[in-house]
Amino acid sequence: MLALLALGLVIPAAAGPRDAPPPFRLPFADQPGPDTWLLAQGYGNTTFAYRARSSTYYAGQGIHFGVDFDAACGTPVLAIGDGLVVAVDNPYHGAGPHNVIIDHPNGYGSLYGHLRQRSSLKIGDPVRAGDVIGLVGDPDLTCASRPHLHLEVRSAPRHDRAYNPIPLINADWERIALAGGVPHAFQIDARQPERWTSLADQPAIEFGENLLNNYAQTWPPDW
Ligand SMILES: [Zn+2]
Repeated sequence: MLALLALGLVIPAAAGPRDAPPPFRLPFADQPGPDTWLLAQGYGNTTFAYRARSSTYYAGQGIHFGVDFDAACGTPVLAIGDGLVVAVDNPYHGAGPHNVIIDHPNGYGSLYGHLRQRSSLKIGDPVRAGDVIGLVGDPDLTCASRPHLHLEVRSAPRHDRAYNPIPLINADWERIALAGGVPHAFQIDARQPERWTSLADQPAIEFGENLLNNYAQTWPPDW
């Protein structure tokens, strides 16, 4: 009886919402590696975005508002969750030459950028997690310059906020980061040196709002 009571007490806590798995899957069928795909740049306060905070990433509060995956041109890109196609090649959303947005019933939208060609999907098409929605392309249109997928997770249906996709995708991110073999450098605020310096700990952004990382003292140095 005591054991049953103890179980009764323990089980609800263990099954609480904190233990729900992340809602989305990876956008590729294969495991990471040099012949498939690699994590290239995380979401957030990256040193790369920091240096371009007043230009490329100004509209995203100085934050790299997606995750970049290096992959060869033509690598199939998969939907990260069930949903409906709500945009195809909308120039307002950038990440050319081609992009797709899928809205999911959980209140998130996913944007797939730098696709090689226009997706065969149409606005209103239903998709399931794992369906091929397009092919990896190169923003420079060469397939030898910097072919990669830029993946964003935004608020739906307005798409006016962006969230760190990494805690929302069910994957072993530490192993993926190792496979990438590149340092995941984040810009350090001297006044709060532990904040926003890991793949998982990054702020959501609201498009058009003020810069989050206009630091007075920072590392690496501001040049
Ligand atoms: Zn990107």
